Amino acid sequence: MSRVFNFSAGPAALPVEVLEQVRDELLEYPGCGASVMEISHRGEAFLGIARQAEADLRELLAIPDSYKVLFLQGGATGQFAAVPLNLTDSGSVADYVNTGAWSKKAIAEAKRYCAVNVAADAAASKYTTVPELDEWQSTPGAAYLHYTPNETIGGVEFPFIPQTGDVPLVADMSSTILSRPLDVSRFGVIYAGAQKNIGPAGIAIVIVREDLLDRARPEVPTVFNWQAMAADGSMLNTPATFSWYVAGLVFQWIKRQGGLAAMGERNLAKAERLYGAIDASEFYANPVTPECRSWMNVPFTLPDPALDKPFLQGAQESGLLALKGHRSVGGMRASIYNAMPMAGVDALIAYMREFELQHG
Ligand code: PMP
Repeated sequence: MSRVFNFSAGPAALPVEVLEQVRDELLEYPGCGASVMEISHRGEAFLGIARQAEADLRELLAIPDSYKVLFLQGGATGQFAAVPLNLTDSGSVADYVNTGAWSKKAIAEAKRYCAVNVAADAAASKYTTVPELDEWQSTPGAAYLHYTPNETIGGVEFPFIPQTGDVPLVADMSSTILSRPLDVSRFGVIYAGAQKNIGPAGIAIVIVREDLLDRARPEVPTVFNWQAMAADGSMLNTPATFSWYVAGLVFQWIKRQGGLAAMGERNLAKAERLYGAIDASEFYANPVTPECRSWMNVPFTLPDPALDKPFLQGAQESGLLALKGHRSVGGMRASIYNAMPMAGVDALIAYMREFELQHG
């Protein structure tokens, strides 16, 4: 089987150029006589890789010097617990905005550690939109406000960054980070699992404002203690060296593409073309409010769920992989992260038209 257009939500497609470089360096990382997977994380070679990856990420996102960048394990799910453990004490209230499946998981985990106020909930829309800002019931003096800028399953993305005044804003950016430029200074904490726009699974990136580093509870596990990890360059224990290395190659690839401004233009063009095709047809539908539609994850339905199976089978035969929607919502979902070229979107649209002609 040759490589196909892979619409997986994550672990997701990586740029071919990056995979080729990994292949070329796999047996011997230049100058090391061994694979990058086989060398000490404390040796000069890996420290160089780690430093360069952080420098490139800082450059791409224009991360201010007053923020620490951490490369941790435990995925974004680990951070669902790390956020309250690092930012609350037992008397704190944390505000959460519920816009769908991943917000709910973050809320459930936070409730194990602190009082949670759901400041806004998109339930009434069946999680197809972002609640209007003037309806949010925020807690004055909350420890933080947490939201999910892009809901990977529902395909709902915030068209704005919430204003929270003195309350630190915390964002789970797992499925939107690096998709376009971002004003990091608006956030207290940004975290993201790697396996969409960053690299292979195994790493979570945390970008945390330094003044928030002294709030951790004594019982926070050391590997999730942001201050301790920041003090030790994310190397209190053995980091996920291979994932870190590949993430670094992805950052360099994004720089070669022209950085996040160019990435953002490409991603917007891809999303507009796919939503345009869905909206222009009577056959396919997407339920999300147009201004809240995700650039990265595009769910769509067919007029009859009985058509899902033949659609997926034909897609597979046409070299279009992993279009099945999440089991909780059904239908289809095309994830079109940075590594998906416009040619993949065009191939999907061509297949959708052909399928509609046959079954419409
Ligand atoms: N948050 C969001 C928005 C996600 O999309 C995912 C994974 N799909 C997660 C959290 C969980 O990430 P992980 O599997 O790395 O824990």
